[in-house]
Amino acid sequence: MKSKKQIALVAHDNRKKDMVEWVEWNWDALLDHSLICTGTTGKLVEQTLKAKAGKNSGRKISITKLISGPLGGDQQLGALIAERKVDMVIFFWDPMEPQPHDVDVKALLRISVLYNVPTACNRSTADFMISSPLFTNEYTPIVKDYSTYISRDLAR
Ligand code: PGA
Repeated sequence: MKSKKQIALVAHDNRKKDMVEWVEWNWDALLDHSLICTGTTGKLVEQTLKAKAGKNSGRKISITKLISGPLGGDQQLGALIAERKVDMVIFFWDPMEPQPHDVDVKALLRISVLYNVPTACNRSTADFMISSPLFTNEYTPIVKDYSTYISRDLAR
């Protein structure tokens, strides 16, 4: 991954306040990267960045808003991870409430592990990630070799 990263930001409703606070705290660092968000999280993140950066700061906000998570946004994000278009995931999921799209949440977490994408599920992990030297440098995550799996013999 390059020094300018594709960062996914997703928060469940009970965690959106945490996400907004985290973005308020880290807006300056985040503006150097491209953001990809599920729909409602994206609206909040964009509002927060606009308020923080100010209209006339000359800093461009690069943000892609997918469909809202429960309506397919988590699956869209999972597909982008499989296409190797996402470098980091900040996903504040709700540990206290079942979600209508729990299976999509599980799929998103699974695919991020499969492709060895750095994934923060709480604010402290997100703080550690954003303050890592790797956040602003190039980094090549090692992805497990699945070629044996892909070429397995099924003709038996
Ligand atoms: P939302 O989706 O940002 O559209 O609320 C979050 C989620 O994945 O539940």
